[in-house]
Parts: sequence; C-alpha cells; structure tokens
Amino acid sequence: MHQGTKAVEERLDRFFRDKLQPAIYRDHVALSITAWQAPREPVPFEVAANQRYEAVDLGWRFGRAWSTIWLKVSGEIPASWNANDESALAAEIVIDFGYNTSRSGFQAEALAYDLAGKPIKAIAPKNSWLPWSYGNKKVEFYLEVAANPDVAGEYTFEPTTLGDWDTASEQPLYELKKLHIARRDIEVWELVQDIFTLRGLMVSLAQDSTRRHVVTRAIEDMLDAIDPSDVSGTASAARKKLTAALSAPASASSHRVIATGHAHIDSAWLWPIRETVRKCARTFSNVLSLMDEHDDFIFSASSAQHYKWIKDHYPSVFEGIKKRVANGQWKPVGGMWVECDGNMPGSEAMVRQFVYGQKFFQDNFAMHAREAWLPDSFGYSGSLPQIVTQSGISSFLSQKMSWNQVNRMPHHTFWWEGIDGTRVFSHFPSADTYISELSGEELAHAEKNFSEKGRSSISLVPFGWGDGGGGPTREMIAAAHRTGDLEGSPKVSMGTADEFFALARSEYANAPVWRGEMYLELHRGVLTSQHRTKQGNRRNEGLLREAELWASYATLKTGAAYPSAQLEEIWQSILLMQFHDILPGTAIAWVYREVENRHAEITRELLEIINSSLAALANDPTANTATQALTVNAMPLSRNGVAALGVGIARNSAQATSVSEQNEFVTLENEELRVRVDRSGRIVSLLSLATNREAIAPGIAANELHLHNDNPTRWDAWDIDEHYRNSKHVLDSVDDFNVRKEADGTAVIETRRVLHSASQQASTIVQTIRLEPGAKSIDIGFEIDWHENEKLLKLAFPIDIHAEEVAAETQFGFVKRPTHENTSWDFARFESCQHKYLFLNEKDWGVAFANDSTYGFDVQRTTEANGATVTSVRFSLLRSPKFPDPEADQGRHSLNFKIRPAATIEDAVSLGYELNYPAREVQGNRPVEPLVSSSAPQVLVETVKLAEDGSGDLIVRLYESTGGRADSRIAFAGVAKKIWLTDFLELPTSAEQVSGGSIDLKFRPFQVITLRLSGLQID
Ligand SMILES: [Zn+2]
Repeated sequence: MHQGTKAVEERLDRFFRDKLQPAIYRDHVALSITAWQAPREPVPFEVAANQRYEAVDLGWRFGRAWSTIWLKVSGEIPASWNANDESALAAEIVIDFGYNTSRSGFQAEALAYDLAGKPIKAIAPKNSWLPWSYGNKKVEFYLEVAANPDVAGEYTFEPTTLGDWDTASEQPLYELKKLHIARRDIEVWELVQDIFTLRGLMVSLAQDSTRRHVVTRAIEDMLDAIDPSDVSGTASAARKKLTAALSAPASASSHRVIATGHAHIDSAWLWPIRETVRKCARTFSNVLSLMDEHDDFIFSASSAQHYKWIKDHYPSVFEGIKKRVANGQWKPVGGMWVECDGNMPGSEAMVRQFVYGQKFFQDNFAMHAREAWLPDSFGYSGSLPQIVTQSGISSFLSQKMSWNQVNRMPHHTFWWEGIDGTRVFSHFPSADTYISELSGEELAHAEKNFSEKGRSSISLVPFGWGDGGGGPTREMIAAAHRTGDLEGSPKVSMGTADEFFALARSEYANAPVWRGEMYLELHRGVLTSQHRTKQGNRRNEGLLREAELWASYATLKTGAAYPSAQLEEIWQSILLMQFHDILPGTAIAWVYREVENRHAEITRELLEIINSSLAALANDPTANTATQALTVNAMPLSRNGVAALGVGIARNSAQATSVSEQNEFVTLENEELRVRVDRSGRIVSLLSLATNREAIAPGIAANELHLHNDNPTRWDAWDIDEHYRNSKHVLDSVDDFNVRKEADGTAVIETRRVLHSASQQASTIVQTIRLEPGAKSIDIGFEIDWHENEKLLKLAFPIDIHAEEVAAETQFGFVKRPTHENTSWDFARFESCQHKYLFLNEKDWGVAFANDSTYGFDVQRTTEANGATVTSVRFSLLRSPKFPDPEADQGRHSLNFKIRPAATIEDAVSLGYELNYPAREVQGNRPVEPLVSSSAPQVLVETVKLAEDGSGDLIVRLYESTGGRADSRIAFAGVAKKIWLTDFLELPTSAEQVSGGSIDLKFRPFQVITLRLSGLQID
C-alpha cells in the first residue's frame, strides 16, 4: 500500500519548513552596524552619508511610523571562504527587520547603497538579501530603512491613526533581528525552487490524475533521498529524484502563458506620495539587479510619473533603466502618466494621461507604449477605446473586472467597443492577478479560468510583488524556468505584453466584442469618498481648459509668452492626483492633506494665467476707447449673447424673479419656470411654463435629503454595499427657512438644517434654491459642515418621467444606463458615475441635471397609484468612511447643481458646461471674437492649446456631443498656413492638409477630432 497523497503533502510541508528552508543559508558571520535617525522627512544619500552614526546591536527596536533610519554596515568576508566555492556557496547579506512575511511592500523596506551612493538592491519581506562577491573582501554599505507602518494589517478595516505622521504613535514598529553575511547553498536553494513548482502543480491537478500521482511519488522519493541532518550534503541526490517529474514535457494542447515581470506600484495609497518615489527606486533597483543575472528576464513598468521620479532623484538607476529599455529587457507600458481612475477623469484629462505618458516615453526611451495598462482601476469608461486608440495604442489590459460581485465578465480576450464604435483588442489575464508568483496554483487557475479555451490558447501573467511595489524575485524567475515545458502545467515563457498581444491577436482576430463601459461591480463608494479632492479635480480640470484656451489665444494675438512649462507641470500634478487610489478617495489622510493643498495652489496659479491672458486679449493698448466690464464665456456654446469661447457684452433683459409666499409654500417664478417649495425646503412643483409641463410627480417632493447608514462589509472608503438602501432617513425638517431677493433680481430660498447626534459634533447643511431672472434652470447649492460617521447623504429628485434609461456624461459623450433591474447586470449597477451632467427623458421632454463635483448617483423607478412611472435620480453628496482615513470627508464642503426641465440632450450638455464654466468678468476696451468656432451646435470645442512640441502650432480638439452625426465648419479668428488632422499625440493622421481660415469636418457620433494649425495669423 502507498502513503496517501495527502500524507505526502503534509510530510513535505513539515520538512520544507523545518529542515529545508533553514538550510538555504550557512556560515553566518556578524557585521558591525551603526545607525543615524533621519529627521522627519527623507534626505538624499549625500546628506545621510555625512552624519554621525552610532553603534546599534541586533535586537535594537527602531522606526516610529514613517520615519527613516540609515544604517552603515561593515565587516569582512572570512578568509576561509574560498573563491573556488563561490558558484556553489554564494555570499549574501541576510536581513530581517522584524517584519512578518505575509506580504511584500507594506512594511519596513530598505534600499542598499554602495559607498559612492549607488543603489544596489532593495530589502523587503520575501526579498530580504543583498548580493556580495567573495572578491569584495571589505563589506561596507548603507541601508536607508523606511519604517513604513502596515496600515491595512489583516484588512479588518478598523479605523487607524497610522495614516499620517502627526496622528501615528511614536512607538518603534520594527526590530533589527538579523543583519549578517552568510553563504547561500545554491543546490539547496534550487531544490526549494523544484519543490515550489512541483508542489503547486501537484495540488492543482485532479485527485485521480496519473500525473498528480507521478509527482507525488517523485516528491516522496526525494524526501527519502535527503538526510534531514545533512540537507546540504544530500540536496543533489534529492534533486535527482525530481528530475524526471520536472522534465516531462507539456502536452501539445497546453495553455500558453507569457509571463512578464511587473511591479504594481500604487502612486500613493497606504503611504504618501513621497514614499512612492522611494518605492519606485527600491523596486527598479531590484529589477536591474535581477537583470544582471538573467538575460531572459523581461520587466514591464507603467506610469511615466514613476520614471520621472527616478530620473529626477536616482539618476544612476535611471541610466540603468535606459540601458535595459534599449536592449529590450525593460518595457515601459501603458503610455499613461499614472494608472489613473478609469471613470472620473474629465475628457481632456484622460487624453493628457496618454499625451504626457507617451511624450515622456518618447523623449526618454524613443518609444511609444502600444498597450493601455490599467490592471487595478475600478471600472473603465466607454470612452477609453477611442482615447487609447487615438493615443497610439492598439491593445488594452486590465484584470480588475475579475473582482465583480455579481456577474462574471464573459471574456478574457476580446474586442472592446467604445461609445463611438472604436474597438481595441483587449485582454484580462486569466490568472486574475497582477501580482503572480508563477506558482503552480496560479498557473493552473490561469488555464482553468480562461474563457476563450479552444479558440485561443494564450494568456498573459504579470508576475512580481506589487501594490506596494517590490517586483519580481529570483524565485519567480526560477519558477518560470521550471514551467517552460512541464507536463500538467501551462507552458510559460517570459516575454513582453507586446509579444503577447501580437500572438493573441494572430490566433484570435475575430474575438468576441464587449460594447460600452466596463462597470466594476464593487467599489461603488469611490465616486463619492473624499469629496474635496474630487471637487478640486473638477475645478482645476476646468481652469486648465480655460487657462490653455486664453493663454494660447493671447500668445497668438498679442505675442504674450505661453506658460507651457508651468501648464505641463500643473497637468502632471493633476494627472498624478487622478491616480486610482487618490481621486477615488481610498488613500490615507496624509495623501488628502497634500492633495487638497496642491489643488488650492493650482487653482491660484491657473486663475493668474487666465486673468493675465484675458487682460491682454481684451485690451488694445493703442486704442483710446474706455474700458468696461466684459463677460468672458469659456463654454463651447453661446451664453447670454456672448459667443462660445468669446468675450463680449452679455444681454439679460429678463424681468426679476417674482416671489410669493403662502402658508405652506413659497413660489418663485420667472418667464420660464415656476418653482414651489414647501416649508421644509422640498420642491413640490417645478413647472416649465413654455411647455406647461410639470417635472415633479404629483404628491411627491423633490430636493429631498436622504441619510443612509453606510457600513460596508469590507473596503470602507471603497464600497457602498447594496444594503445601505434599507436604512433611509429622510431629513424632512429644517431649522431655518429664509426667502430673499438679490440685487440682480434672483430669488433665493435658504434653509439650514442641524443634524443632532448624541455621539458627535453636529453637522449643518445650508441649502439654497435660486431662480435667476429669465433662467431655464434652477440652482441648488450646499454649504455643509459635515461631522457624520459612516453615513451617506443623498439628494433625491423623483421626476415624473417614464424613462428606460438615463444618459450620464463620460469623457467626450455619454453612457446610457437602464433605470430598472431586469437583469443581474442592471441590478449590480446600483451606483454609477456621471461627469458634469445627467439626463433623462421621454420622447421629446426631458430633465437635465448638472453638478460641479458629484460623480456618484443612483436611479430607480416606481409606479404610482395612478399608474404613472416616476424615475428617481439621487446624487451621492457625501460619505464618511473610517478606513483608511478615519477623518475622511469631515469638515466643510460646498456643492452645486443645476436642474433644467423641458430639456433636450443638447440642453443637458450645455447645462454641464454652464455650471462648470461660470461666466467671468474682465475689464477691457475691446470684445474678443472666438479663436475657434464650430457651426454645428453639437460639435463642441473641448480643448484649445499650443502644441506640445513647442512649435507654436495651435491644437484644437472637438467632439460630437449628442451621439449623432454632424457636418461642421470649424472657423478660426485668422488664416492658417496649414491645417491638418492629428491623433492625440499631435501627429498627423493623414497627409491631407488645407490652408485658410476654416475647415469642414464630418463627425460620427461621439467622434473626437484633433486639428493642428501652423502659421496661424490672427486678424
Ligand atoms: Zn493599484
């Protein structure tokens, strides 16, 4: 009788843990260690090397959260270590800072430097060694140790004070447990790698498979062949027992895996941005060190921002990267500035992620990335296929959709079709991870899980420690080598994403199609958490658009200097702050303290550019005309008689809004609207006078505030769980109710609510409902002082419209979402993303909503007693999650909305711009004609700027905004020598050019077209 396979597994695990792993290192020799505690923030090597270091011993407890400790380590290679033994017994420094080995990249980490300050390699859990050569007799090096706290711990999501320097405790977090030089027994180490691969393979095979039993018996024979009291002496003999099992070839129809080295480095998350700079340095140093040993090792790294940090702060590492990019081992991927959120960045911001990412790659590595690389973002907007394709990219990679709670995405390799019809070849690694160790279990999952089996035979597996960085290890490369052609395993070869996509496309060109957005059925709270950061983002996206528009015009018209360097720097900041754990609100407090400050600085800088540019444009120093207040319209649509993108005198001949007060109600009325508000601030009627149609269902009140308990089961800042809906508390009373008229005739109702809660400071909500003279929309504004804990605040508008879908703005268009829950896909979409506007309608009558900083919303339908269908839209105003930032959303917020009944989709588009691009005033002595105009009202000018190459050429980006076709004449305030069409990288897309003052263009639904004009002479 044979031992059961389970018994062999258990025997193996005990032996592996107790005998084999401890035998990897031998001949330990102590080193002498001195330490210097850096001041609060990190310092460069040159500063650290010149400090006074003091001796410390093993057992030293060190490292308050976020502090930096420099160690200077010295010693000698023992004379007895004979150079002839070096290939079998490699000298290595072995280090343990007292961290646990559950994960890499979330605890203390260190970077080792040689005496000249050149980084050698990083130290982190699961990769805690440094190479040393026998010939280098004197052991001397520095370690920069970052005492990063493990903020997430075991992911219990308890509130923690670890997320900022000042709130974290002073207590040391780490202990110097091990720091010595030893010899790594290569044969023992190789045996460990053999076992890692075979054990993973064994447990992944079917219990009754012959191959599983063959591997089990080989392992059993290996265990019998090794002497536990002389592991080193018997390791070779033991390995021979595994040779046959490791050399049995894969079957002809095996799944194939292209394994590409990777390190997912969150640009900030459970650590501040500054720590990511060092995470990149550590990770990239690891990779370069590994490349010195393995010619076949390929590494893929995204995010131009990460490379730029290295270029600025670690030039020798950057030179190393450039060498490896040149020889093809290192592949910059993604072509983006950072791996940003996939939903919320605005139209032009999403474009600039690629423009600045690809520009950095071109300038520094003479290449463009060919694949979009967003493995971890929380869902992907339907605009991305067009945006990536116009950015020189032909493939798209993610894996996050495997996190869906309800529905499984049907494909791993497919064509993704965007809202405009553009298709991009796409792949989700079927290993369902971007942090693979290339274990047998992960590889087996990649094959079993792969949806396209039988049509396609290949998937990509990114391997290497990630999230907190770290990257591939020599153990992972050993696993890749062992699984190249191994019976029962997918065939693994190391390669690039480019190679993968070429192979996948060649065998599966007619892959199935997924149309529209990829909605992640999880992390729905990220559209709302950390509202101030979202508002800063929205505001500065708008100000950037204005600054580029007016500054480029001022440059062309008056010769004013174009602030290209300043604008690029601001863009890079904004793009960084759109990273997929920053803009979503899922990082620690430290990050939001910095981001809110940076947004405020950027706002000031941009307003200066806007104001000085407008002053130059609107003033003719040679003219004698008097200056007057002129209205500036940055909208791509006309407003109050001022042309789109023009400066002139606004017209508003409307009568003042009238106010009448009854006992129960106050009624505001202008020529267009009659609004009736009850004494608790609810809108009970919103009547369009021109169409004589009521927007609010009879007997139902709108503008209602709903407070929900918001206690997700996991992932607090990330998630709104479906059960939040079961706890609705309607804020149906007010503490103050006032009505007033403003000087311009606007009528205002202001309410104030105080939320009294026994356990905390009271929150106050001040709301205004404003109706301007002649306005076709009402304005709703909030000033909120928010002190709730784990609550979600929603603003509800039940609309008397039978709508099957709502249209929510996304980049360069909108996405339509069902208002019902017919399918599990509809059900799971209970909280969605909008940009500036939301629109719902019946055949020819609709209601448009615009917001200035609110991304999350939900929509539900009810049928009333009289049979009418009511479509209720609710906007998610604020949350107050407690992890990872226990103070998230606490404090002051302002939010603004516009609501327009009797609206079309064109009106909704316009309303979004109107709220987000309020009219400005400039003192000037001349009106300013638009620099660019579009004859078709649905073709909008989104971006006007000067070319990125510094040529002075003008770039104009336009899009069709309503989902229809359009012919538009695009006219300029001057004559251009050349006008041609380009992609987003500002490279010509055809040889055709015209000259003159206009160009006629045809637009498909939601199509984006970029024009480049050179030699533009302004009249
Ligand atoms: Zn991430």
